Amino acid sequence: MSKKKLATVWLGGCSGCHMSLLDIDERILDVAKLADIVKSPIVDGKEMPEVDIALVEGSITSDEHYREILHIRKKAKTLIAFGDCAVMTNVTGMRNYFPLKEVFDAAYVNAVSNDAEGQVPGHPSLLKLNDKVVPLQEVVNVDFVIPGCPPNADTIFYVLFEFLNDRLPDLGKAKKLKYG
Ligand code: SF4
Repeated sequence: MSKKKLATVWLGGCSGCHMSLLDIDERILDVAKLADIVKSPIVDGKEMPEVDIALVEGSITSDEHYREILHIRKKAKTLIAFGDCAVMTNVTGMRNYFPLKEVFDAAYVNAVSNDAEGQVPGHPSLLKLNDKVVPLQEVVNVDFVIPGCPPNADTIFYVLFEFLNDRLPDLGKAKKLKYG
């Protein structure tokens, strides 16, 4: 079996799902035997080539995320919503309860205008937040989900390992399996 190509992408999330991915520890070597990680926050690759599997953490919160998820969908044979923010917006979606301007000002404008330099790195011209945060499946077709905040490492490894061996994972089974 030839090696597959794997991407992991971080959109509107806290990176906790990627931290949990790193918790698969030495099992990353089993993944590496079956796949090249061609794009990820944990490797250097910045471009998104054609991939067999894309794990996508986080919700769609901005025009940039929107463009990125459409691009990922075109490039990935299997797109996996990775963690509760990707699946149902979760923590990232909490801002949906407040007007966008209020949230933006609190997070970027007011917070930074009080600092010693008086700089505004989050100026509106640099970031176009969407009115509402949405999960991946509201923008693209999602092939599989890994729930959890964050998903646990055993589940992540199980799902990856099954897909890398051309099998469809069974999340019910994942709960009963012990690895390591
Ligand atoms: S699901 Fe939890 S750990 Fe993952 S990005 Fe969202 S808040 Fe962070």
